[in-house]
This record gives sequence, structure tokens and C-alpha cells, in this order.
Amino acid sequence: MYDIVIIGAGIAGLTAAIYARRAGKSVLVLEKEAYGGQIINTLEIENWPGDFKVSGANLMQKVYNQATALGAEVEFEQVESITKSSEYRDAKDAADEARALWLVKTEDAEYTASAIILAVGAENRKLGLPREDELVGRGISYCATCDGAFYKGKSVAIIGGGNTALDDALYLSDLCKKVYLVHRREEFRGDAATVAKLKEKANVEMVLGFIPEKLEGDKKLEGLVVKNTPQAGQISDPSVKNLSVEGVFVAIGQVPGTTEYSELVDLDDKGYIIAGEDCHTSCPGIFVAGDCRTKSVRQLVTAASDGCIAAAAAVDFLS
Ligand code: NAP
Repeated sequence: MYDIVIIGAGIAGLTAAIYARRAGKSVLVLEKEAYGGQIINTLEIENWPGDFKVSGANLMQKVYNQATALGAEVEFEQVESITKSSEYRDAKDAADEARALWLVKTEDAEYTASAIILAVGAENRKLGLPREDELVGRGISYCATCDGAFYKGKSVAIIGGGNTALDDALYLSDLCKKVYLVHRREEFRGDAATVAKLKEKANVEMVLGFIPEKLEGDKKLEGLVVKNTPQAGQISDPSVKNLSVEGVFVAIGQVPGTTEYSELVDLDDKGYIIAGEDCHTSCPGIFVAGDCRTKSVRQLVTAASDGCIAAAAAVDFLS
């Protein structure tokens, strides 16, 4: 039995583990893939205070080492369900209900905990085009730093206008012959400083006001058709462009990995777990941290901050 089971070993979950261990609580972190979360795919981070130009993988290795050195246990197992133990059925009042243990079932084991922290992060959003799944690894990628080297000297397109798309475009511009940056609006959501760097790159072409329409190619990707997206008030002009590319890097944001928890805690219409800055969910004893929470700024530092707050809230709940 653990005081706190944390689901997810990204920055939010591991920070929660660090704080919970330092508060003297027994902690188990369950992670379905590798530890580190999304940020391990970022080659260079400039906005993590105190560690200029650190790679995501190096940073998360240090955070993981810190959490485990403090005594957090980590198991690499996919959570299948979280339910209340039998004490819940016998509870006489709300206080008894809140004290009942949680049962966390994975494919391999069953754990009990007094409190749960959901730090499940988010997954890459897909374009939703026909044959997208078939072409993954054959021209479609969701991670430029993982797969960019396969496209050395080739032409590629990046889809998106946030920081991931901009960073990916900058990274790929040093590897690829030609980089198209396809964004559905005229303005970028990501940092102006990166946009300025991209404008200096002779091999980067911005295709603004366009969205992907069709993936070309049979066994592997051979091109991308993009269609324009007229702004409100403009006369619709259904023009298309054929981009001759061998790779398409999709960087259109994330969707929270929360569907399996929808019966436990309230989600908003986009699937994020509803919680304020105190990281309390709609369910007593379940807390939330990081990108899977409703929040306005999803950054490494805000996810780490959530980890601290959720751990403090769980510790407070247990006392
Ligand atoms: P994001 O900021 O949510 O941006 C997603 C982009 O994809 C937006 O430009 C959006 O367009 C576009 N988009 C969304 N759905 C689309 C669709 N169906 N078709 C076409 N385009 C679509 O996601 P992100 O870039 O992955 O970043 C996530 C968070 O991590 C952000 O807070 C970001 O700042 C942070 N991050 C920071 C760094 C860094 O600081 N170095 C690096 C990477 C990520 P609209 O703009 O029109 O909505």
C-alpha cells in the first residue's frame, strides 16, 4: 500500500514524487511508456530556469534520478482502472468515503493508495487525414528530433504554428534541403524570436493560411496537398498547393490522455481534467498536475509547479 500513487512520469509526475517523498509519504509512480514525458523529444530548452540550452532528455534524466534517489518507486505499467476499495461501500459518511483506499489496476499488478495524482500529460494531435496512420514511419512523423535525420537532404513540411512547429522547422532547416512551414493562420502562436530566426533561413518557406488536405503516395509519402483557409470576411478561394515533400512533421498540439479517467473526474469539452491552481479535481483524493489539467499556460515550469502543488494538496488530504 502506498500513500500516493502518481500516474505519469513526466515533469509534473516526477516533481510531485519529489515533493511527496520529501513530505515523508510513500510514493509509487506508474508510467506506461518511458519516463520523461513529451519534453524528451526537445533537443534544446532555453526557458528552464538555471539550465540554459539543456536537452529535454538530459533534464528529465536528472529529474528521474532525483525522484528515485529520494525513494520514489517507479513501475512501467499501463493503468487499466482506478476504483475505490470495498471500504467505500461500507462508508457511513463522506469522510469515510474519502478515507477509503483507491485500487489501481495495471495489466500486471494491483496497487492500493490513499491518494492519486493524475499527471498523464497529453498525446500528439493527428491531422485526421485518410491514410495518416498507415504512413507513420513512411513519411509521417510527430517528432522532428526523433525522425529528422531520416530526411537529411530531402524536402519536408511541418504542420502547425505553435512553438513545437517553429522549433521543429528551425531544427529541420539545418538538415533538410527545403522546409515548408504550413500553418492555418497568418500569425504564429509560437514565440516571435523563433519566427524571426526562421525568416533568416533561405530554405524555409512559410505557407500561411493553408491546411493539409491530402497525403500523396502509395507505400510511402510522396507529397502533400494543402488547401487555403480563408479568414472570416474574406471571399472564399478554394486554392490548393501541391508540396513535393517526402516527410510531413505534424506539430498541431496535443490532446490530453484522460479518456480512461472520465468517469472518475470531471473533464472539460476538450478532455482536460477540470481543476484550478490548487490541482484539486472534482473527486476528493484525486489530484491533477501538468498538461492534462485545464490551464492557460502549458510549459515545463508550470507542469513542475503543478507537481509541487498537487503533492502538497495530496499530503494535506492525507493528514
Ligand atoms: P500549441 O501551442 O497548442 O500549437 C498548436 C498549433 O497547431 C497552433 O498553431 C494551432 O493553430 C495548430 N493547430 C491545431 N489544430 C490544428 C489542426 N487541426 N489543423 C491545423 N493546425 C492546427 O502546441 P505546441 O506547439 O505543441 O506547444 C504546446 C505547448 O508547449 C505550448 O504551450 C508551447 O509554448 C510549449 N512548447 C514550448 C517550447 C519552448 O518553449 N521551446 C517548445 C515546444 C512547446 P492556431 O494557432 O490557429 O490555433
